[in-house]
Amino acid sequence: MYRIDEREVKRVAEVIASAQLFRYAEGKVARWTALLEQQLAEKVGTRHALAVSSGTGALICALAGIGAGPGDEIIVPGYTFIATALAPPAVGAVPISAEIDETLTIDPADVEAKITPQTKAIVPVHMAGLPCDMEALCSIAAKHDVRIIEDAAQAAGGAYQGRRFGSIGDVGILSFNHYKIITAGEGGAVVTDDETIHKRAMVYHDGGCVFFDKDAAAENPPFYCGNNYRISEISSAILTEQVRRLDGILKKLRRNKIAMAEVLWAGADFQPSPCNDVDGDCSSTLPLLFESAQGAKAFLDRNRDVVDMYRPIETDRHVYSNWEPVLRKRTHHARFDPWQWAARSIEYSPEMCPQTLDILSRTVSIQTPYEATGAQAAAIARKLLN
Ligand SMILES: *Cc1c(COP(=O)(O)O)cnc(C)c1O
Repeated sequence: MYRIDEREVKRVAEVIASAQLFRYAEGKVARWTALLEQQLAEKVGTRHALAVSSGTGALICALAGIGAGPGDEIIVPGYTFIATALAPPAVGAVPISAEIDETLTIDPADVEAKITPQTKAIVPVHMAGLPCDMEALCSIAAKHDVRIIEDAAQAAGGAYQGRRFGSIGDVGILSFNHYKIITAGEGGAVVTDDETIHKRAMVYHDGGCVFFDKDAAAENPPFYCGNNYRISEISSAILTEQVRRLDGILKKLRRNKIAMAEVLWAGADFQPSPCNDVDGDCSSTLPLLFESAQGAKAFLDRNRDVVDMYRPIETDRHVYSNWEPVLRKRTHHARFDPWQWAARSIEYSPEMCPQTLDILSRTVSIQTPYEATGAQAAAIARKLLN
């Protein structure tokens, strides 16, 4: 979200004055992108971070990084922004939708049920800042020898069992578009401990491989056909200040979410949704789980003016049943058909994840008020109980 002031303005002015707006300068990573990548690696706790132009770009680079391609199946949750499901077809792989559970994140039991010999990776999405059950997912991934790509686009800085999102799976991604926890309008990152994934993602993100050190050819991955997902120095400079703000933003969100949750435990026909790690939750969202969809809808209709909130079932392209291009298996070209390259016939339907639709229709997600004090947040929660 837009939490920007003179600090970011000053950085942008510095970049423009320096006449260095490109992320590489003489074959080396330029000043602000270098600083940003170092900050992100430190913050997330990975050996490598690659700043890119978007979260979608980061997902595609991560998939290319793990070597995903035609014939591969990538398991994604039925509740996530459509970009998570669009990234696999971009590299010739197919998305497989798995159910979410009451935590609003991917259901490990359904993930395991959907693994086939063609499964290349699972993409747990820390949706709305909420932690996935990484312990269960990591053990499933290890058992079946599949990779984990953590989609932390909506969850920068959050953690599971003390480890920041993006550092738990084989590779993680972040987004810095306008709606995310920290932003430069657009932007993203690929974070990983794995040198090979990192370097392969680097090649994909910059088809010209401007960064290749020609004197160290042996250390480079093969120069393969990439693309362009480069970030600009202007975005990187803004993001260096945004990363500095991140833990302060999360602290405030956590305080206000807890203040509201303490009041809302008293709800008659709902309870706060279960959470896989309350301490690591980004706390940008407080989801309430109702006994019925009607109850959720009535609560929302009654309280619309009290605080920003929504029923996830009504969030359009965040629900798999609205992923029209995926459901119709439609790409930019009829012969570019990842589903034809799959080892089995893949069928989609708007009803394929009924548990997901049921939970999303019974949930109301409150957006934690950021500017409120703790006392004001609690007062808002009390109004919701009236
Ligand atoms: C926003 C988002 C993305 C894509 O990020 P962009 O920067 O908009 O490309 C991917 N996954 C999830 C879960 C998102 O919310």
